[in-house]
Amino acid sequence: MYRNLKVVPRVVFGRGALNQLDAILEPKRTGTGIMVFVLDAFFTGKALEKRLPLRDGDLLLRVNVDHEPKTTGIDALTEEVRQFCGKDRLPDGVIGIGGGSILDTAKAISLMLTNPGPSHEYQGWDLIKFPAVYHVGIPTLAGTGAEVSRTAVLTGPVRKLGLNSDYTVYDQVVLDPDLLAGVRESIPEQWFWTGMDCYIHNVEALGGTFVNEYARAFGEQSQVLCREVFLDHHEESDEKLMMASYFGGMSIAYSQVGACHALSYGLSYVLGLHHGIANSIVFDYLEDFYPEGVKEFRAMAARNGIEIPRKLTAGLTEAQMEKMIDVSMGMVPLWENCLGKEWKDKLSREQVRALFEKM
Ligand code: NAD
Ligand code: ZN
Repeated sequence: MYRNLKVVPRVVFGRGALNQLDAILEPKRTGTGIMVFVLDAFFTGKALEKRLPLRDGDLLLRVNVDHEPKTTGIDALTEEVRQFCGKDRLPDGVIGIGGGSILDTAKAISLMLTNPGPSHEYQGWDLIKFPAVYHVGIPTLAGTGAEVSRTAVLTGPVRKLGLNSDYTVYDQVVLDPDLLAGVRESIPEQWFWTGMDCYIHNVEALGGTFVNEYARAFGEQSQVLCREVFLDHHEESDEKLMMASYFGGMSIAYSQVGACHALSYGLSYVLGLHHGIANSIVFDYLEDFYPEGVKEFRAMAARNGIEIPRKLTAGLTEAQMEKMIDVSMGMVPLWENCLGKEWKDKLSREQVRALFEKM
């Protein structure tokens, strides 16, 4: 059986596209008329916040993303929206404006408004029962592919796992490269970590056993764009990175990520590291899996003056190390994509431990 992929049905791309948001939302204001804007709190008081087309009766939620989204945080935000709208009333839309953390937060709120109970009960595959409230994603950082994916990654009481469903996919995305302006200068490391998430998605998809022409077409073009951004500093880097992220997301949507993501989930789970930086830390040690990719990744880091953090696992207890290995080796489809169906014969706990001990 081939996957029947749900994709984002509507996309606006171009500098200044954010100016169209009011017109995009207008025909959707058919119920309570309420729109909920979920904005990265980083933008509080900044020009972007003032540009959001809030109308009387709309709700602006400023959400801090120092920590990646948790199920408890989503439940609290969903309750806040419910209280705001009043009994048995829903907003007509939820709009997320920010990096991957906010894109996932807005997706999760839109799902939890229509699905009863706490969000941790929906961590997994296709557990969501009812369609979400109309939701729009507007990235201000590029790389995760969260703008196109069918998951909203959340840390819950037991595991870090997404709300994976067709209903999770955005109804509309607004890709405005102007929103990436200045990111490379103001937060060069974050720009790099999030961008490398995309680069690594492509390496893992293209080098995996699950690859097919659909995934390859998107992944190869995304790599071309990543090279232009991270090796050449092309003058249209913001446009290119925005499309690289989108295409990278499309590539893994029809294939799978691999060893780096499997190990990075373990590292993040135990050390609390963010997704992008954890991937970069891990990828630097994966020459045996992805020799060409790792070489090029190092050239990208050098070209952009980025130092990869090291010696992070030195002080871990045995129990923490075991947990890290368990979480990583539990990522079965990722290893299967990387090493094939017989991956268990090719990868031992000792090998995984040795890799973590180097980091
Ligand atoms: P992020 O959203 O966590 O943001 C990182 C930092 O950058 C934050 O401090 C944020 O305030 C700041 N920031 C965002 N936009 C900015 C801008 N324009 N200028 C200055 N600062 C800005 O970072 P991310 O790497 O985009 O996202 C990581 C998250 O995405 C993780 O929670 C991860 O689990 C998730 N993720 C989701 C998917 C998916 O398919 N749903 C895929 C990969 C990662
Ligand atoms: Zn990723």
